[in-house]
Parts: sequence; structure tokens; C-alpha cells
Amino acid sequence: MIRNYKKSTPEINTILTKTIDKKTGVHSRLGSLDVKVRIVLVEAVVADDADDGPPPSALKLHGSPAIAIVKIMDPLGRFLTKCHVLIQIDEYAWAELSEETKIALIDHELTHVDVVRDSNNIAKRNDDRSPKLKMRHGDWQLIGFAEVIERHGGDAHEAKHLMNVCEATNGLQLVFSFKVAGVGGKGKQTGKKAQSG
Ligand SMILES: [Zn+2]
Repeated sequence: MIRNYKKSTPEINTILTKTIDKKTGVHSRLGSLDVKVRIVLVEAVVADDADDGPPPSALKLHGSPAIAIVKIMDPLGRFLTKCHVLIQIDEYAWAELSEETKIALIDHELTHVDVVRDSNNIAKRNDDRSPKLKMRHGDWQLIGFAEVIERHGGDAHEAKHLMNVCEATNGLQLVFSFKVAGVGGKGKQTGKKAQSG
């Protein structure tokens, strides 16, 4: 697939700045270390004779479509860009998100970024003096088939996994309260099953 890369927008920059603000941001731990985050939008280039409808996802993570992907820069990347973290966002999918979900998506990507600390809780540094960072995996990753749960019920691996996630999120009641609060009710639906990466 051919991709076009585009600069971040003022809207994205505003969300990012608030999110990593060293005093008030939910990721102030990054802002206070002056971690530089670069965000780029990615567009999938479709052929002129392609079918109408949503373009294919511009980003993939472990083979599945992703709305966004975060990566910690290697030394060469830091040298070339002066940035420490790169977030790629699918431009088409981004445009379909509500304001609140955009904020949550940037939060999600930055939650993947951990600061490496020594035993005294002091942030470690790379040779170029940049903050030493590492990737943090998500608390869960859900992949499964509804039809396998239909066939095997609670014996299906995906059913057990789903129950674990429900427990980790304070049970189904919390999940249902999200629905009452209107998940998917705001903004347009993309119709794509992309996940944040
Ligand atoms: Zn993720």
C-alpha cells in the first residue's frame, strides 16, 4: 500500500500539548521530562478505479487495522527528528472520531510510553541525554470470534479472556454504564473495526 504522510494539525497539537502539560496533563510525567512527541497523519492512497466507500486502513498493527500506532524513536530517529516518540494516526479514521474519543486516543498512545527509572525513581537517560523510554503493553488485547463463543460458551478461550477484561474493568456493570453514557452515540461511526495500537 502506498501511504501519504502529513503533518499534525493544530487540533491534534492542542490535544497533545494539554495531555503532556508538565503541570496539568494526564501524562505530565512525559512533559516534565521534556519528552518530545511527534504526530503524523497517514493517508492510504487508493487507486483511481477503487470502489467507493471508506479507504483501507492506512495503519496495521500485528496484521490488524489500527487507528494509531506509537513508537519510541531509536537513536538515529532521535538524531534526525529531535523527537523521542512518534505517533502515527490514520487520517481518515481520525476525522470520524468525536472530540472526546480523539482525546482518549492520544491518551491511549502515550500510556504505552513508560519512563525508565533507577532504584531511586530517577529517570534514566540515553547516551544523547534524552529520557530513556520503553514501551508498555496494553492491559489486555482482545481477539476472538463471536461464533466460537456461540459454539463453546464459557469454554471458549475468547469467552474466558472477555470475562477477565470485564473483571479488570470492575465488571460488566461498568461496561454497561459506558453504553448508557453513549459510547458510539457521539460522532460518526467509521464502520471499520480498527483499534488503537
Ligand atoms: Zn495500544
